[in-house]
Amino acid sequence: MARSERVPLSKLDPRAPLVLDTRELGRRPGSQREVSRTVPAPADLGIEVLGVAEGSPVELDLRLEAVMEGVLVTGTATAALSGECVRCLEPISDEVEVRFQELFVYDDRDVDPDEELEVSTLQDDLVDLEPLLREAVVLALPFQPLCTEDCPGLCAECGARLAEDPDHVHHEPVDPRWAALGALAEPEQAED
Ligand SMILES: [Zn+2]
Ligand SMILES: [Zn+2]
Repeated sequence: MARSERVPLSKLDPRAPLVLDTRELGRRPGSQREVSRTVPAPADLGIEVLGVAEGSPVELDLRLEAVMEGVLVTGTATAALSGECVRCLEPISDEVEVRFQELFVYDDRDVDPDEELEVSTLQDDLVDLEPLLREAVVLALPFQPLCTEDCPGLCAECGARLAEDPDHVHHEPVDPRWAALGALAEPEQAED
């Protein structure tokens, strides 16, 4: 006889670093467990210009709490960020700490089909933390990361970092051999 249960596209691996096993809670509302672990960051944790390098440590402090419908996961994640300033392309190193909370409902519980897409579910009483972590990290990042708040960016003409050389100016391209002479001969700018 064919089974009518929905089969998840991919089975979670209980040993995967971002998979949490809730079976110890025994589905008893009120039972809870604290989990602290450091896991290697999954790929693409962040946005294009700023993120957590794949494999670098992510510290997780989590509380798993059984409730009637499922397991409530509350926690924080801390990780080092690397990326580059969108204005001057200098490397940026920073740290991100995010908090998250999500209810994962038991997968054998009837869920209103309209609701289904928005609900996180347990799979065989396992929690896949990765989507939750990814969402929390992405939301915490600035859209336009900057090395400093008032980074002046790069010179449009020569690409120099204006933060390092804020006053430099460009005149007509000058043969470098004449540059010294040209500077002397430069007429004072008259204002009228
Ligand atoms: Zn910058
Ligand atoms: Zn320049």
